[in-house]
Amino acid sequence: MELKVLSADERRARVVLSDASPAYANALRRAMIAEVPTLAIEDVIIHENTSPLYDEILAHRLGLVPIRTDLSRMNLREECSCEGKGCASCTLTLTLEAEGECTVYSHDLRSPDPEMTPLPGIPIVKLREGQRLKLEAEAVLGRGKEHAKWQAAVVGYKYYPEIEVLERCTACGDCVEACPKGIMKLNGGRARAENVEECILCRACVQECEENAIELRASDSRFIFSIESTGALPPLEVLREACRCISKKAERMIALL
Ligand SMILES: [Zn+2]
Repeated sequence: MELKVLSADERRARVVLSDASPAYANALRRAMIAEVPTLAIEDVIIHENTSPLYDEILAHRLGLVPIRTDLSRMNLREECSCEGKGCASCTLTLTLEAEGECTVYSHDLRSPDPEMTPLPGIPIVKLREGQRLKLEAEAVLGRGKEHAKWQAAVVGYKYYPEIEVLERCTACGDCVEACPKGIMKLNGGRARAENVEECILCRACVQECEENAIELRASDSRFIFSIESTGALPPLEVLREACRCISKKAERMIALL
């Protein structure tokens, strides 16, 4: 198996997985979506709320705010030494106090830990003059399979495109015009595909070619993953953690044998 990172930043990554089966690619995708833990607000204690939103709606909105997570310092509540009672190793307590007239944003939630903070810029509620909001919110680790608020990323993959231009190509340029991604180019008296990772397998080039000179296949042992993180964890960390989750499950199986 081989892994190559095509691009990666704080929010998005594209990775090529080679020498693997579709079943393995899908296991990896599902682990990234459902198994990787992140922080999200689970309990909200509302001290004062004269905003236009009911407490429940407010709590629901707060629950969906992504929170930057340091997995090396947080435990799942059920695995924590406090036995689920809630302590600093499994619970991040955020506070919020605001008075109108203003818009309350996710970054108004105060975190005791500068490395685990809500992602900024998400509007929570608008307050008119004199309306007040005062609350405490407890964020805990959870997994996407329990609730979408804990889902670390949106992940998709596609089969790696394999484009072959046969010798009978006359360099007419029809495929160059037809390709919506602009990857077909005329080069050295023949059409050639460049940046094949951008190909969306639409087959427009194959359909336009009167000479039937283009063969397009989708590899079933090479996959291009596109990982878009919510911002709680960097996308490559989501991939790393998903691999750890699969490995842990396998170890549990071995222990049973
Ligand atoms: Zn604990």
